[in-house]
Amino acid sequence: GQCVAVCPTGAIVEIDATDKVFNAIKNPKKHVVVQVAPSIRVAIGELFDMEAGEVTTGKLVTALRKLGFDVVFDTDFSADLTVMEEASELVDRIENNKTLPILTSCCPAWVRFIEMNYPDMLDIPSSCKSPQIMMGSMVKTYYANKTGIPSKDIVMVSVMPCTAKKAEAARSELGTKDIRDVDYVLSTRELGRMIKLYGIDFKGLEEGKFDKLMGESSGAGTIFGTTGGVIEAAIRTASEWLTGKELEKIEFEELRGLKGIRGAQVKIGDLNLKVGIAHGLGNARKLLDGIRSKKYNFDAIEIMACPGGCIGGGGQPYHHGHEEILLKRQRALYDIDKNKKFRKAHENPMIKEIYETYLGKPYGERAHDLLHTSYSPREKI
Ligand code: SF4
Repeated sequence: GQCVAVCPTGAIVEIDATDKVFNAIKNPKKHVVVQVAPSIRVAIGELFDMEAGEVTTGKLVTALRKLGFDVVFDTDFSADLTVMEEASELVDRIENNKTLPILTSCCPAWVRFIEMNYPDMLDIPSSCKSPQIMMGSMVKTYYANKTGIPSKDIVMVSVMPCTAKKAEAARSELGTKDIRDVDYVLSTRELGRMIKLYGIDFKGLEEGKFDKLMGESSGAGTIFGTTGGVIEAAIRTASEWLTGKELEKIEFEELRGLKGIRGAQVKIGDLNLKVGIAHGLGNARKLLDGIRSKKYNFDAIEIMACPGGCIGGGGQPYHHGHEEILLKRQRALYDIDKNKKFRKAHENPMIKEIYETYLGKPYGERAHDLLHTSYSPREKI
């Protein structure tokens, strides 16, 4: 495997995937699929003299097509898929008295952190692969199947907010030696450089649309890009499943904000779900120590290694610790969510279709094979 330093703040030199991606695009035998993470669309504009938090989703899609990618999918879609699986796992753990708290598992920097520092607590992370890996897995199976393109000819590229996502794609259990879930990961800044290299006027681009099949998302998938968003997205779905009733209020304000460690109780029918949230590794350590020592008693936890979550990722346009920039990016994600036709993952029609035609039941056998993973203790480096 590739050796990549896991540094959520990006201070360690990035391994630049630009050349490999250009070569794949130039190779006529390869079908190159790209996905973009939720947090990229509210930050990349800053590389092109746009305001922090300006929503550039459509321009981003057009830029990716101009660079020569064959298909442009949305990681917001696979974030919805993650919600389906994670909410199912949460419901299963609650109903069957299994291990709680459940910890969200879409930040690979913190997953590695818990593997190295808390090997006795590896039963708490959700077994869900992250949205980037779920997309790769679906592209190499579901999409390959639908289009008849052999998975060995498909190159999966991700545009992600951090270098930890590069290390994640290289984890040996995520794919086989020959067919990886994700082949190459570009950071936001690397993609920005590619766009500049091609002389594309990003600001002036028309608004493109994601490709069908895995391009539609609910607002739940979008808010994955901010601290508090993953757990809110999962609770929207889990809550409706547990109560059998439609949510009266979709927004869980108590889970939002930028405080380093937050706790809240969410009422779901008769159940009071105790939720903990931490962002930044120092806060993650405090939260995990508190759980280990039983100082904290939570049912569900979300941890993101970067300040603010992925909006503050080390591969994003530099924010130099300015909270104002993070807040603008965060607000932009909540605005996208507010304006979406669907705001719960289980209502996304493309999500319904993928389960009906391919995956079967959420958290069922095929979903387990393709969308779940496992963790093991790792040596400290
Ligand atoms: Fe990467 Fe997001 Fe985790 Fe930061 S919080 S390391 S950007 S996945």
